[in-house]
Amino acid sequence: MAAPKLAAVRGMNDVLPAQAPLWELFERRTVDVLRAYGYQQIRTPLVEPTALFVRGIGEATDIVEKEMYAWTDALNGDQLALRPEGTASVVRAAIEHNLLYDAPRRLWYIGPMFRHERPQRGRSRQFHQVGVEALGFTGPDIDAEHLLLVKRLWDVLEIGPVRLEINTLGSTAERAEHRTALIAYLERHIDALDADARRRLHSNPLRVLDSKNPAVQQAVAEAPVLLDYLGAESRAHFDQLQKLLTAGGVEFTVNPRLVRGLDYYNLTVFEWITDRLGAQGTICGGGRYDPLIEMLGGKPAPACGFALGIERVIELMSEAAVAADTAQCDVYVLHQGGATQVLAQSVGESLRDAGLDAIVHAGEASLKSQMKRADASGAEFAVIVGAAEAAAQAAAVKALRARGAAAPFAEQQTVPLAQLATDLAAALERISE
Ligand code: ATP
Ligand code: MG
Repeated sequence: MAAPKLAAVRGMNDVLPAQAPLWELFERRTVDVLRAYGYQQIRTPLVEPTALFVRGIGEATDIVEKEMYAWTDALNGDQLALRPEGTASVVRAAIEHNLLYDAPRRLWYIGPMFRHERPQRGRSRQFHQVGVEALGFTGPDIDAEHLLLVKRLWDVLEIGPVRLEINTLGSTAERAEHRTALIAYLERHIDALDADARRRLHSNPLRVLDSKNPAVQQAVAEAPVLLDYLGAESRAHFDQLQKLLTAGGVEFTVNPRLVRGLDYYNLTVFEWITDRLGAQGTICGGGRYDPLIEMLGGKPAPACGFALGIERVIELMSEAAVAADTAQCDVYVLHQGGATQVLAQSVGESLRDAGLDAIVHAGEASLKSQMKRADASGAEFAVIVGAAEAAAQAAAVKALRARGAAAPFAEQQTVPLAQLATDLAAALERISE
């Protein structure tokens, strides 16, 4: 009896070989852009103490209330969680290793995040983010730098136009004053609020403004906006940010209703949104979180950052038909078993020494069926190490793709082994011209 098949956990997806080249392309181009702005990578664990996220994200947030994979370690009783986002971990690591002792830091990370949400288009339970955290900078120049960086990223990823919305959440004191006015307003309109909004009315009233329920949206249309509660400093920060964006050619709209799901944001918040992904159109979000470092036990220091959802960006790349290099390798090496198998292995190694990519046929099969494999592999050239060639210290080379009449090795040719790598490299060069 066949053993029952196992399947991946719902909402946790495989990236199969057909999609992987697009992921690699995304990663290469993104890393280039991050380097171009002087950001350094940081890698933190997937598992952290649950308390880090409860303190760092806030108790009254979707993530902590209902989306976190958290458990008690069966061996020692520790409270642990899979990271739902990257900022809290990066700040934890920066404090723990004293990274801010002499200068501010520009950091970035990439990797999987975990949230127990209902899986749907653009929403999975394991998803991937690239994020940037600038620790120890007051801005608003660095806030603008992040938006220039993201804009450049969209350009090099060739995903077409993405809309930028920005807002400011002011200082903690300004938010408190606004919050009082907002709660009073919401209490006066409580009949129009749904259960979610009522629950948040006192715990996280800003989130009520963010409700997706049209009835609630209508009820809060006239609610007091934070912009009217800003002091001179917050206003100056926001004004200067807008000046820098305009000077840098970054288009944006101010959306006074934009808030972020996480508690720790202040001043600048932003989202990059597209209409091409259905309901889950936000591909990047971020802003300033000056209180967080101190909240997590560090010496007070300002900070800002953003995170972008890789799956959503990859979907845009594949819709825009961004071409990833899917060719497996340059050369497929065939042999006839026995001594020719040993020779084929060393031919493969010498091709790799010369910087070529080579697949050496594994196992024994007829040359005809090996040729089929070679063809299916995507390799440009077949290199045949048969008994006759081996005896002559040579290999037969045959082009596998039609690249016009000029293709080198369109007809099979015998090449001495000593010359093989050089001739193949030259042929590949000619093809790529
Ligand atoms: P949303 O409103 O879509 O739930 P969020 O505010 O929870 O987003 P952030 O915590 O700001 O999202 O994460 C930054 C980005 O990560 C999002 O803009 C989105 O592109 C991506 N993202 C968030 N949650 C998921 C998920 N469950 N699946 C795939 N991508 C996600
Ligand atoms: Mg969410």
